[in-house]
Order: sequence, then C-alpha cells, then structure tokens
Amino acid sequence: MAMVKRFGAVVGAAIVVAAIAVVAQDTGGVRSHPNPCPPGQTEVRVGRCQAPEFPPPSIVDYRPKSTLVTGVHPVPKAKFPVVDIHSHTGPTPNSVERLLKEMDALNIRVLNNLSGGNGDSLKQRVEYIRTAKLTDRFTVFANGLSGFNGVEPGYGAKAAAQLEQDVKSGAIGLKLFKQTGMRTLKKDGKRLQIDDPELDPVWEAAARLNIPVIIHTAEPQEFFEQPTVTNERWLELALFRDRRNYDPGQVKFETLMTERNNLYQKHPKTRFIAAHFAWHANDLAKAGKLLDACPNVVLEVGAILYDLGRQPRAAHDFFVKYQDRVLFGKDSYEPDEFPFYWRVFETKDEYFDYYRDYHAFWKLYGMDLPDGVLKKLYHQNALRVTPGLPKTGWPQ
Ligand SMILES: [Zn+2]
Repeated sequence: MAMVKRFGAVVGAAIVVAAIAVVAQDTGGVRSHPNPCPPGQTEVRVGRCQAPEFPPPSIVDYRPKSTLVTGVHPVPKAKFPVVDIHSHTGPTPNSVERLLKEMDALNIRVLNNLSGGNGDSLKQRVEYIRTAKLTDRFTVFANGLSGFNGVEPGYGAKAAAQLEQDVKSGAIGLKLFKQTGMRTLKKDGKRLQIDDPELDPVWEAAARLNIPVIIHTAEPQEFFEQPTVTNERWLELALFRDRRNYDPGQVKFETLMTERNNLYQKHPKTRFIAAHFAWHANDLAKAGKLLDACPNVVLEVGAILYDLGRQPRAAHDFFVKYQDRVLFGKDSYEPDEFPFYWRVFETKDEYFDYYRDYHAFWKLYGMDLPDGVLKKLYHQNALRVTPGLPKTGWPQ
C-alpha cells in the first residue's frame, strides 16, 4: 500500500515538474499558482496533495480575519472637491436635503447623473435643478434617442437632432448604456456595433456641441469566461445571472474592445470618457496603449477600485504618467462606499478590505497619490473634458 502511494506521489511530482517547466517559460521563471491538486485537496509540499481534516467552509462562508497590525488612516472626506462624473442619482424634492448633507460630508461638489433620459423627462430634471438653485451641485447627461434600439437608415440624423435639443435643454454630455454595442439590436435584427456608421452623426453632433460622450462598453473580462474554479469573478457570476456573457453565440470581450477602439479612432474630434477604465484596470499597459493611441479618450474609475487597490505601485505610476487622463466616477451612489476610494487614492495604507466581497477576494492598498494628481483626478480633468460643469468655486 505504502509502495503504491509513494509511486503515485513520484509520478504526481514528475507531472508537476513538467507543468512548472512550461509555466516558467511563460512567466519569466515565476511559478504561477494554479493548484495542481484534485478538487477537495491542496498542495502541502511540492507534488503532495492533502485534504483538510475538517469539512472546508464554502467561499461564501470563509471570512478570515486578518491579524496584521498596521497603520489605519480612514478618509471620510476627500482631500479636494470632487466631481462624480459617473452617477445615476439626481435630486428630487424628497431626497435633495439628504443628498446635499451626504455630499458635503464626502466633499463631493458635483453629482453628475448619467441617467438623464431625453426629451421632456430630461427637461424636467434640469428644470428642477435650476428652480432649486442647485446648478453648481447637480448636472445631467442625456441618453440619446430610444436607447439606440431599432437603429435603421436615418436613425443617426434623428438621434443627433434629439441630442442637440437635449443639450439646449441643459444636458452637458451623452451617456450610452452597456446594452448599446453588446445586446441592442438593429431593426434588421443584427447586433448594433458601437462603430456602426449609422451612428456617426451622433458622435459628430457631440463634437460640434462640445460635450463629452461616456460609453459603458462591455463588462469585466472574466464575465465573458466560464465560471470555473479559476475565474476570479466566480461568486459574482454565480450571484447575478445578467452578468454572464459566456454562452456560445454571445459577443466576445475582444470583439467589443475592437469595435469601441475603432469608434474612438474614427472620431478624433469627439471627446470620449471610457466608463470603468475601459475595463483595462486589470491590464494597465493596455490602458496606457489605448490612451496613447487615442488622445480624445479619458478613463473613469467607476467600480474598478479593486483592480487599482491590488496593484498600488503600478497604479500610482500610471496615474502620475496619465494624470490628465483620469476622472473620478463611482457609478452606484452609496455614501458609505466613497471613503474606500479616498483611502486608496490618498493614503499608503496596506491590506485593507474592499466594500464588496463578491467583487474581490483580495485586499486593497493605498496608492499615495500626490496632491496635484488628486486635484486632476477629483475635478480638474472633469472640468476640462465637460465644459458644462460649474466653472467657478474650485480651489486654485
Ligand atoms: Zn453606470
């Protein structure tokens, strides 16, 4: 019995060594981690797998508490006034008092509502902001004509006219939701590609009207992959059906990136804000390439903090190098969550929790950005890219 076991271990070790040799070629000698053991076991020594003696908790229930004792510097209020360029929240008579109080506590000066709608609904939103004398705190982007559904010949010109009217009504930018380019269908039943020439008049109108266009293209890369045990977004995919984009026949991540980049390059006079860091926060070299190739593009940091906070040194260097190309945005308005952003950007704290377990199975670290970069990230870049934002009252 012992002989058989040892023989098995030797064969196992040989396989592992072969696997390591291959990996070493790919990663410059750094052994990548994939645990070579069968399910239910973990590698305790090279080539030796072992099962825990207690039934393991599921990943939903395993919540190890760190014993690390290190500096803790919470940042409840951002160091400089902030424009949240990627919000979906605007004031109503019922919410405005609470919103202003929360925004003041966080140092958010402007909340930019990307869900402005179009036509009359947009007009009403702007009207309320104007009558309540809140134009220096709340702004809205328009959403185009009919959500870009059913595009057919002639649609682009109509959508451009709608945008022109919405800007006259007070919209300061155009936002396209993630369905556009990914799932939205044209009248002929085909998927609408974001670089479809029928939409050209819209981008040209945005340039002429001097407003930015923010497009949410695609989803995190891992949402396009099967939810296997090596998928770092497994839990999120298992929780939310509408984030699964891996079925055969669904459009691929790379296809969406290519179509989006075509659009950016085809319209150099239109300013584009790539929502969610263009989904390249996990590959900053790729993000840098995009910015180098497209001077008309800036990145926004909504919902990708977990990627910046797990590579604080690379992220710091990126933000210093591209300090004119990054905008603050949060996406979901949750007052309790903003301070996680301030802490990552402003401190050099180490190994602290992110606010959502299912987003990230790892800890965050502070990027320790210099004041000049923070000011650009928090408001100066947004003011340059979005001329409709309040112009006065900013620190010099
Ligand atoms: Zn959003």
